[in-house]
Amino acid sequence: MQFDWLVVGAGLTGAVFANEAKRRGYRVLVAEKRGHIGGNVYTETCGGIEVHRYGAHIFHTSDSEVWEYANRFADFAPFINEPLARYGDKLYHLPFNMNTFYEMWGVTTPDEAKAIIDRQRSEIKGEPDNLEEQAISMVGRDIYETLVKGYTLKQWGKAPAELPASIIRRLPVRFTFNNNYFNDRWQGIPRHGYTKLVEALLDGIEVRLNTDYLAQRNTLTAAAGKILFTGPIDQYFDYRFGPLEYRSLRFETAEYPQQNFQGNAVINETAADVPYTRTIEHKHFAPGNQELQQHQHTVVTYEYPQPWTLGKEPFYPLNDARNTAILQQYQQAAKQEAMVCFGGRLGRYQYLDMDDTIRAALDLARDVL
Ligand code: FAD
Repeated sequence: MQFDWLVVGAGLTGAVFANEAKRRGYRVLVAEKRGHIGGNVYTETCGGIEVHRYGAHIFHTSDSEVWEYANRFADFAPFINEPLARYGDKLYHLPFNMNTFYEMWGVTTPDEAKAIIDRQRSEIKGEPDNLEEQAISMVGRDIYETLVKGYTLKQWGKAPAELPASIIRRLPVRFTFNNNYFNDRWQGIPRHGYTKLVEALLDGIEVRLNTDYLAQRNTLTAAAGKILFTGPIDQYFDYRFGPLEYRSLRFETAEYPQQNFQGNAVINETAADVPYTRTIEHKHFAPGNQELQQHQHTVVTYEYPQPWTLGKEPFYPLNDARNTAILQQYQQAAKQEAMVCFGGRLGRYQYLDMDDTIRAALDLARDVL
């Protein structure tokens, strides 16, 4: 046997685990089916700008061990995510805060904003039992209609009344003029992109790109003692209990010969008749890089949600009752695979932010290495 561990997938999960295994003296091989490392956090440089190829990625955490760990592999530049929302020809601040309430109703004090929200939320009687009711009970009907309804419809392909309330229960609502989207203690973006971070994690480890484990299962399995699989768990088992469903995304990227396209990194497009949900201007992820900010060149990505079908890139798991029941069958099957662990967002069929991904990979390494 050539390797102690075969890690399938060179995303954040696979890279952290591979690094931990190597550090403990194991011989590790990483197999990645794409032509690049990094999985969905992959960034590539375009005219000095770090372009987030699979959607905007902002690192935020309150986990000190994870923050220290990430900083060992990348130099993080400070960044505060202060997204805007566009509806028609107006812009609103997010997350919902006094700026949003001022822009929506012209109110300037928390008491005035609370009075309007209280009046509007009174249409919801009892516990909200879907996303629409949850949103109205949090911020009232005006904000629901303008900033939540169309965006949600596009994002999930379903009416908010058909979606679980839990999707937005954790969305911040603040009665202060604070536009920081995240409540976490630390927030930043690797100065040289996430790909460099993953490169540093994989330093000294053999990585085979364009290598689909499932297409070379026998040879690759024979080469290693144990396996961490970070691909889709249902695909590993040849969909024997049926495919798990996802929501997919399509990205359209354009380069413009201008210094500043929209003045902000992220603008949510909340109107139902605009087909994309977010416009990302990548240079604004590096506000401290003055030289970059001066260039007459910018890169902009439009994010289009789309239905997922087998073969399309899976993005957001649909953790409803039907898919949870299917997942449990796969999890039972996974218990019979003595030499294989399943990890990451696809192996666990769970949306995980990057900090949760690193935390889970470090915990897994502690358990099994
Ligand atoms: P992945 O990145 O998906 O890596 C899995 C890898 O396995 C892939 O490279 C894949 O090609 C490979 N693979 C699959 N099957 C096989 C196979 N058969 N053989 C070989 N290789 C295989 N998190 C944040 O903290 N902040 C954000 O702002 C943020 N924004 C996000 C925006 C979007 C649009 C999305 C979808 C996610 C966002 N995330 C964000 C979450 C972040 O992307 C994940 O935490 C992270 O990518 C998970 O890493 P992973 O390694 O588990 O999965």
